[in-house]
Amino acid sequence: MSALPVVAVFALGGTIASASDSGGGALVRLSGADLVAAIPQAGQVARIEAHSVTMVPSGDLSIGDLIRLRSLIEQALADGAVGVVVSQGTDTLEETSYALDLICGTDAPIVCTGAMRNASLPGADGPANLLAAIRVAASPAARGLGVLVAFGDEIHAARFVRKRHATSPGTFGSPLAGPVGYVIEDRVVILLRPPGRLRVAVPDDAPDAPVAIVLTHLGDDGGLVTAAPSLGYAGMVLAALGAGHVPSRIVPALESAARQIPVVLASRTGAGDVLTGTYGFAGSESDLLRRGLIPAGGLDPAHAAVLLRLLLMAGIDRDRLAYYFDQACRADGPITATATGS
Ligand code: ASP
Repeated sequence: MSALPVVAVFALGGTIASASDSGGGALVRLSGADLVAAIPQAGQVARIEAHSVTMVPSGDLSIGDLIRLRSLIEQALADGAVGVVVSQGTDTLEETSYALDLICGTDAPIVCTGAMRNASLPGADGPANLLAAIRVAASPAARGLGVLVAFGDEIHAARFVRKRHATSPGTFGSPLAGPVGYVIEDRVVILLRPPGRLRVAVPDDAPDAPVAIVLTHLGDDGGLVTAAPSLGYAGMVLAALGAGHVPSRIVPALESAARQIPVVLASRTGAGDVLTGTYGFAGSESDLLRRGLIPAGGLDPAHAAVLLRLLLMAGIDRDRLAYYFDQACRADGPITATATGS
């Protein structure tokens, strides 16, 4: 019988690691070892090395935490792990998994998961999600797909996945692409392979480049758009109406902001690309792109903010940003954004 593969589990906190005592609100209490101890079946899949990295709600994670996690992941793989699981809160999982997708250079499976029901609740989904994630991380079929999210027995590509519901255990979906696979019984089934992957060469010591997300809406007066560049943001993502439209009254504020910092045009709808040349009215996508905004392609505002932040941290020139946004969802092959270009 061949030896079991090694899978490293990095626990960051979140609902999957939360429990309540004596009627109080649930808090992060469970370590990586505690999480793994709840799924003895994992011992038939892999030899698990459990690590507790942080014990926080996922809103308290930072880009710096993810850059440090990258080093831990690289070390675990260098030490012989075939794949990695990251367990964390679901609230920011679409952003953290996409950041790892962009900054990690490996083809080994990195599989993120979490839970919607904490460990004290009936029907807690953490153990099943963690076991499924371990199966995916141990699967040779999951190599080269980019960072994945295993949740509710579905497998999603980090670049497409979204948290779509505040409480449902089936919250994660990929509206643009659908899941890339699923887990059934003890098998990992990969249905689709995403197109080429964009990576961003962010140095370990890169200074952060905070990005604002501003959501426009009916009756918006543009006050936040006007303020953002002077508040210290290195860039801005505009969550625009529909396919990339804004009320015409905020166009001058956007044009002015785009002269000061990169402004990315994304759709607030939750799925689908922004247009680039269909409408011609003031505040249309064509008008905004002519005034210097950068189209987000098929990235929703949260994903677009992660990509913009990392590109800026990597020192990518402003005139290269649009190219990388264009490639983010549909590169033909692997691309790495480096400060010197690629
Ligand atoms: N607030 C929690 C978190 O993101 C929610 C969850 O894990 O589902 O840490």
